[in-house]
Amino acid sequence: MKIDYLIVGQGLAGSLLAYFLEKAGASIYVIDPDGEGSASRRAAGLINPVTGRYFVKSWRVDELIPFARQTYRDLEQLLGGSFFHERSILRALGSAKEENDWLARAGDPGYQAYMGDHANKIELDQLLYPTLAYGQTLQSAQLNVSVFLDFFQKQLLGKNQLSKKYFHYGELFVTPNGVTYGDIEASRVVFCEGYGGIKNPFFNYLPFRGDKGEVLIVEIPGAGFERIVKQNNTFLAPLGNDLYWVGATYAWQFTDDQPSEQARQELLERLKTVVKLPFKIVDHWAAIRPTVKDRRPFLGQHPELPSLWIFNGLGTKGASLAPFWARHLSEVMLEGKAMDGEVDIQRFD
Ligand SMILES: Cc1cc2nc3c(=O)[nH]c(=O)nc-3n(C[C@H](O)[C@H](O)[C@H](O)COP(=O)(O)OP(=O)(O)OC[C@H]3O[C@@H](n4cnc5c(N)ncnc54)[C@H](O)[C@@H]3O)c2cc1C
Repeated sequence: MKIDYLIVGQGLAGSLLAYFLEKAGASIYVIDPDGEGSASRRAAGLINPVTGRYFVKSWRVDELIPFARQTYRDLEQLLGGSFFHERSILRALGSAKEENDWLARAGDPGYQAYMGDHANKIELDQLLYPTLAYGQTLQSAQLNVSVFLDFFQKQLLGKNQLSKKYFHYGELFVTPNGVTYGDIEASRVVFCEGYGGIKNPFFNYLPFRGDKGEVLIVEIPGAGFERIVKQNNTFLAPLGNDLYWVGATYAWQFTDDQPSEQARQELLERLKTVVKLPFKIVDHWAAIRPTVKDRRPFLGQHPELPSLWIFNGLGTKGASLAPFWARHLSEVMLEGKAMDGEVDIQRFD
């Protein structure tokens, strides 16, 4: 089989890249055993314009969010599914200082597009333990990542563009015209393996820094709550059918990617201070986020083997970063556009 691009990994990075390359007319083929347990499959898929204690705008949010919104809407049309939900994030403001900080920021012209009025506290008080007030984000959203990836996978399988196998690096050969892998001949290969990239012998010189995250999936019968809440350092995001994603933990040091009793207890204790209604834990997930020391993605071409490329390092914000940077990488590879220096792996030369 002869193709233009072989893509390794079908998480958010590989899927969005496959979408933009094909949209621009390139032929693609994807290899991924199934991604169960990948960061993408464990994420809440939140797109959050203002983050942290000081309510600071996320990096390049003015470009990233509108582009992500348009891309996921286009993908819903293309794939015939529903997985992108525009939802405000209700940010608990526990003290007068926090409330003042929120209001001061919301008054800044650069933030008005992202920070709205107070939410209706009375409605929330029936579900959650009281806090002083809630601030409400605008333009935030929740991508149901697993549903999106399932739809995308189905489309790839339907067009014979996916092999559900592990990619063995030792079986890749670089040729004068590109690469070969088994019976596949490709002009280029793009590696999108998330934290699995630490095993990639061509790119493991890059400063990968994993961040283990754990979450609980809980059932709160009758909560009927369709918005996202952040209270006591904990996100509560609706999954439908009374199920909620609760998380997450962050750990730079870890020995495996499995759920741990310690994180379960930590999340449970946090949740007990947030949700008033009875709840039941129905699942507990863990995965490693593909984070980078300087918190910027890895995009680029191998310094010595020009047919080898990488799209990785989406860190804690894959849902908002993947569309914009996948399109950028496709333009660099197909049209020879200059690579944005902030994400180019050449910064590590
Ligand atoms: C608990 C948790 C919560 C998160 N919440 C959010 C959130 O709310 N919002 C947000 O934007 N981001 C969130 N993230 C981060 C987000 O999940 C990541 O930024 C993003 O999913 C990374 O996507 P990826 O495709 O680069 O990697 P991955 O999702 O890890 O996908 C990599 C894929 O490559 C495949 N692969 C690896 N090695 C090979 C190989 N050798 N051969 C073939 N296939 C291979 C894997 O099977 C996998 O499918 C969260 C992450 C975690 C862990």
